[in-house]
Amino acid sequence: MADLIDVGANLTHESFSGDLPAVIDRAITAGVRRMVVTGTTLAGSEAALALARLHPRMMWATAGVHPHCAADLDDATADRLRTLLRDPLVVAAGECGLDYFRDLSPRKAQRSAFARQLELAATSQRPLFLHQRDAHADFLAILKEQGSRLPAGIAHCFTNGPDELADYLAIGLHIGITGWICDERRSADLRAAVAVLPLDRVVVETDAPYLLPRTIRPAPGSRRNEPAWLPEVVRTLAEFMGQSPEVVAEATTRNAERLFGISAN
Ligand SMILES: [Zn+2]
Repeated sequence: MADLIDVGANLTHESFSGDLPAVIDRAITAGVRRMVVTGTTLAGSEAALALARLHPRMMWATAGVHPHCAADLDDATADRLRTLLRDPLVVAAGECGLDYFRDLSPRKAQRSAFARQLELAATSQRPLFLHQRDAHADFLAILKEQGSRLPAGIAHCFTNGPDELADYLAIGLHIGITGWICDERRSADLRAAVAVLPLDRVVVETDAPYLLPRTIRPAPGSRRNEPAWLPEVVRTLAEFMGQSPEVVAEATTRNAERLFGISAN
């Protein structure tokens, strides 16, 4: 299988603080030599950039405020995000979007924080790293308001079916597939969607430490997910795309390189 790029790993999560070097070693052994560290708050985005600086040509960062924390996005935070987005190692704006499933920030605050980060992405010419849960209609409407100004982007951790997929493909988004595809209990919609997902729009991510693939045998002792499990996502995704893992691996790597402007090593 071609070398993979994990486009979404929360490596600044506290669960990695004790053994990150070992996590990285296992990723490399598994052929996951490049990863994009997700930022979900201002402090988390700064930490993601600091981590990327320690791992040149292996790690990059995103900078953004997750919809759970949308109420935190004030003017000062937006200014600091704008500065972060100028750094060459910060390759995407986000994680940003809407989450009406958990509703941890008021929906109005979520919508305005999202619109604001779309502007930041457009002015800094960075692709978007997008989160959407139970908010498809509002999410799509806000993206469409951007018209031709809408940057490229990834619908991260896509879990929906063919209809939502068609909406995202129509506005040019790439689709981020996680270990959700490996969960036979809840991935019927997603499995139907990836059967019609074009190879030039797919990227893969672990969303570590979340979403440990359920198909790993023998089942790992820890529930913590990590980048080394990304090939399992690719194998399962390939099965439901009706492609070989090699073809899917190569496509996802090429797509991530192009989106983020990360050249091959
Ligand atoms: Zn997310």
